[in-house]
Amino acid sequence: MEDCIFCNIAHGEIPAQKIYEDDELLAFHDVAPQAPVHFLVIPKQHIRNIMETDDSRLLGNLLDQAQKLAVALGCAENGARFVINCKSDGGQTVDHLHIHVLGGRPLAWPPG
Ligand code: 5GP
Ligand code: ZN
Repeated sequence: MEDCIFCNIAHGEIPAQKIYEDDELLAFHDVAPQAPVHFLVIPKQHIRNIMETDDSRLLGNLLDQAQKLAVALGCAENGARFVINCKSDGGQTVDHLHIHVLGGRPLAWPPG
């Protein structure tokens, strides 16, 4: 998907501060962090959102990697928030599936 920002990051065409990469996943710091820890975990494959896949193995790997990286970045003790925004009501702005991980400060709930 040529015009997809996250596909371009996955293909190395747009730079990002990468944290983790394997054959199917990539994690990188959010360009506009909302907390001291704020990174994204994406599949390299272009999947528009969480509702457009039934690949439970891939979804499990995304979540597993998000959890491992949250621990590696210091969130084990106080926790973190794992978020998947989906489409307009979910506040999704980049149409390529991603998990946000936010930590390093207390976060309010519920969202506005
Ligand atoms: P969404 O609103 O779709 O759930 O989240 C998209 C996230 O992607 C936002 O937090 C935004 O800051 C981040 N983002 C958008 N463009 C870029 C980019 O080019 N590089 C990085 N690292 N993050 C981006
Ligand atoms: Zn994409």
